[in-house]
Amino acid sequence: MILHVDMDAFYASVEQRDSPQLRGQPVVVGGSATGRGVVAAASYEARQFGIHSAMPSAKAARLCPHAHFVKPRIAHYAAVSRQIREVFERYTPLVEPLSLDEAFLDVTGSIPLFPSAEAIAREIRHAILTELSLNASIGVATNKFIAKIASDLRKPNALVVVPPGTEADFLAPLPISRLWGIGPVSAEKLTTRGINTIAELRKLDERLLTTLLGSVGGRVYQLARGLDERPVVANREAKSISKETTFETDLADREMLEAWLVHLAEEVGVRLRSHNLKGRTIHLKLRYSNFETITRSVTRAHPTDATRDLISAGTSLLAQVDLHRPVRLLGLGISEFRPVEVQLLLFEDPNYLPGEKPSRADEVADAIRQKFGQDSLRRAKGLSRHPIDRDHERHD
Ligand SMILES: [Mg+2]
Repeated sequence: MILHVDMDAFYASVEQRDSPQLRGQPVVVGGSATGRGVVAAASYEARQFGIHSAMPSAKAARLCPHAHFVKPRIAHYAAVSRQIREVFERYTPLVEPLSLDEAFLDVTGSIPLFPSAEAIAREIRHAILTELSLNASIGVATNKFIAKIASDLRKPNALVVVPPGTEADFLAPLPISRLWGIGPVSAEKLTTRGINTIAELRKLDERLLTTLLGSVGGRVYQLARGLDERPVVANREAKSISKETTFETDLADREMLEAWLVHLAEEVGVRLRSHNLKGRTIHLKLRYSNFETITRSVTRAHPTDATRDLISAGTSLLAQVDLHRPVRLLGLGISEFRPVEVQLLLFEDPNYLPGEKPSRADEVADAIRQKFGQDSLRRAKGLSRHPIDRDHERHD
């Protein structure tokens, strides 16, 4: 059985927890409302005004002028995320983080020790609330796909259990947009044929779906039936750490894209270092407004966890792609990991002397950010023109 745990409005909830005067108030974590800042997270009180992540902060300020704007403290959220993860690991070693506030847990092996997967989910929610004063929503199901939908269904502060054998019924009334692989373009192709719910989509055979949707058709066919075989992959075996942002308005502005890249690199760097990983291959992902998606990557001679290296690799990859067309999504990732411990041993081998000193500077930076806030240190690019901030996250 799989649990999908998703913290409720994580960054905003951490800020409300840490500052009592923010509780019950509309809180927007993100960049400045006077510059070109972007909303990273909004409290549920702020969401009632229509504020959501990736929205320009200036627009959020118009929607809710009395909202409290708070600068993100990513390193602090990463530290809280590690505490949450320690709770998970009391129940299973099979924890696959998707982002700082979301993870899959495979609790199949733990069930003999507990009354049920649902009981484990209840205990986890209780531990996170009593020990960390935060709310989590959890979906419990036989696979990742159903668990993820379940955790989102009655957010916030919800536990949704989909008993084995009821997956198809659970999915039937939901809109097709819930299916991975159904983006806005695919959804439109289907809705023009009168197909709005997953139950309706299930009436199409696999060949027709593949004709309509292309290569994802087969996958969509399986998911619509509640079938998903992907295993939970514990962090140590994670293949990549990446971070991507969909812009509210498509960007055809190199400087803005470079500024976003700095921001993505900072967050990927914090996560790499908080997992004690170094990677060799840095990936850039770009999606144009017509949904054409391209990726570029570069492999370094030596692994790194330094934000500086992520920025320089990302910037040189960005220089290789066409930026005359509007871009709707930008992502940066790193793969081919080696744990830092292994790397330390390699340092002793003269053949591997990589001169990887920048990570020391990042360690200091992480500590300063954790103590004084995310914006206490900002690389010149992000600082000078675009006080930018983060957005959603997906795991490759
Ligand atoms: Mg969340």
